[in-house]
Amino acid sequence: MTLSKKETRIKNKLSTTEQTLHSEIGDYIMQMFASPNEETSIEKQIDEMVNDFSEEFLITKNANTNVDIDLIIRKFYESKIPTHPTDFESYFQYLGDKVVADSIHTSSPQFIGHMTSALPSFVRPLAKLMTAINQNAVKIETAKALSFCEREALAMMHRQIYSLSDNFYSQHIQNNQSTLGILTSGGTTANITALWCARNKSLGAKNEFLGIEKEGLTAALNFYGYKGAVIIGSELMHFSFDKAADLMGISTKNLIRVQVDSNNRVDIQALRQTVADCREQNLHIIAIVGIAGTTDSGSVDPLEDIAEIAQENNVHFHVDAAWGGPVIFSRKHRHKLAGIEKADSVTIDGHKQLYLPMGIGMIFFRDPYLASSIEKQASYTMRKGSFDLGKRALEGSRPGMALFLHAGLKLIGLRGYEFLIDEGIRKTQYMAARISMMPEFELLAEPDTNLLIYRYIPEQFREIATKNKLTSIDNQIISDFNERLQKMQRQNGRTFISRTTKNIDFYKNNPIVAMRAVIANPLTTEEDIEAVLNDQIQIASEISIPIN
Ligand SMILES: *Cc1c(COP(=O)(O)O)cnc(C)c1O
Repeated sequence: MTLSKKETRIKNKLSTTEQTLHSEIGDYIMQMFASPNEETSIEKQIDEMVNDFSEEFLITKNANTNVDIDLIIRKFYESKIPTHPTDFESYFQYLGDKVVADSIHTSSPQFIGHMTSALPSFVRPLAKLMTAINQNAVKIETAKALSFCEREALAMMHRQIYSLSDNFYSQHIQNNQSTLGILTSGGTTANITALWCARNKSLGAKNEFLGIEKEGLTAALNFYGYKGAVIIGSELMHFSFDKAADLMGISTKNLIRVQVDSNNRVDIQALRQTVADCREQNLHIIAIVGIAGTTDSGSVDPLEDIAEIAQENNVHFHVDAAWGGPVIFSRKHRHKLAGIEKADSVTIDGHKQLYLPMGIGMIFFRDPYLASSIEKQASYTMRKGSFDLGKRALEGSRPGMALFLHAGLKLIGLRGYEFLIDEGIRKTQYMAARISMMPEFELLAEPDTNLLIYRYIPEQFREIATKNKLTSIDNQIISDFNERLQKMQRQNGRTFISRTTKNIDFYKNNPIVAMRAVIANPLTTEEDIEAVLNDQIQIASEISIPIN
């Protein structure tokens, strides 16, 4: 390319020092791209620093640092990109001090309040490999073997859920017309994808109508003669369903949340009634959602009963098993998920109970052709008949996260995952038993899986609490107390339990505050559980109660 006169003039005006600096920067940047075996390798030096940070981070027992959020925010107020490259040593030192130091120790055995926990050691070197090969799973031209590796891993999970025949799997596992599952960035995208498929299938092309995909929601409702469209599930549906209802144009108002029973499972009578009411009002039901492991309390809906209702009404049955799905690995506990194999689609998160790093969700389909309802093409790629994974997916470019899923299934195996699930449930039952024995606490529901909700009862309420005679005002005081307790515990940072709310029958419109424990970290022992409860008792002794 030749330079215009103006450009030449500008170029000549650049001082020689600037030109030298420019080439120095060029040399430095090119060094960043150097292959790792070169003498000058920055990579090796950074690797050492990163290894040191990681090691120290991973052995820290405390759940958190007790640094105020306000202080942390103040460290991140720079809105200008540096003009020149930053020296990597000082930058990584800065990362260590400013980010790593105040990150949450999600792998701490006494951090038992969220669905994020310790990871098996093989994922850390595997993450390096994934970045080294930098495949883009959107299409074959940027992810050759990985695309088939991903399909294989998804088929293994599909088989664990649906247990169809050898024949079925050999026919569909590597058939470009079939989609047994889709790898997504998480449960949210998986749920959205499932409902998108259900919507497009149920309002598809017919006679002169080209289908909702081409004509839109209004035209689809008009053509089929519906007054509106709804999605039905329990009131404990994850908020990703609100996002799905919003995106699909049916509005969050038409995400119908049916009440749950005292064990947080959807009330089947009420569900049946809601379905009947919707049909009577001429509302199209896109899907009925069953939850296998609510985010709130780990409860599992009666999936068999929901499957029956869906079948009777010829409606798509989706199971959100983002959290609880891996319970299918346990011969002892998988009966709790009975009926999941009747689902048209199932969401499972890899980054929760498959112990894989953040960024792995999955959706599985009973009908391997259902995902054709969302298929898209592009002229430069994603051609019809290709193996390009991006043509039947919400996401475009995405990393080779399949490597983790594949490795987890192979390296941990059925018995390994069974062990992890059984241990989590066993320790949760231990914690539930301890809570029931301790006068300081009240168990708020029998755990279905490995989530536990309970609360602290201040001393003056213990006697009336055991007699079930707490008034609304008492409950309000206890709720305020628990909220303060949880916040102080989080601030102290030694241990961690999260917080949620729970409706109780006589007090329906004013839910009570509950402590929420998630016992999934294999490193958590009975002693750790004791330590967390004792930490709460210790903190509670420092809280005073307003005299009413
Ligand atoms: C975590 C969770 C989700 C959302 O998954 P993300 O991976 O956070 O997007 C959906 N449903 C349930 C039941 C969950 O536990």
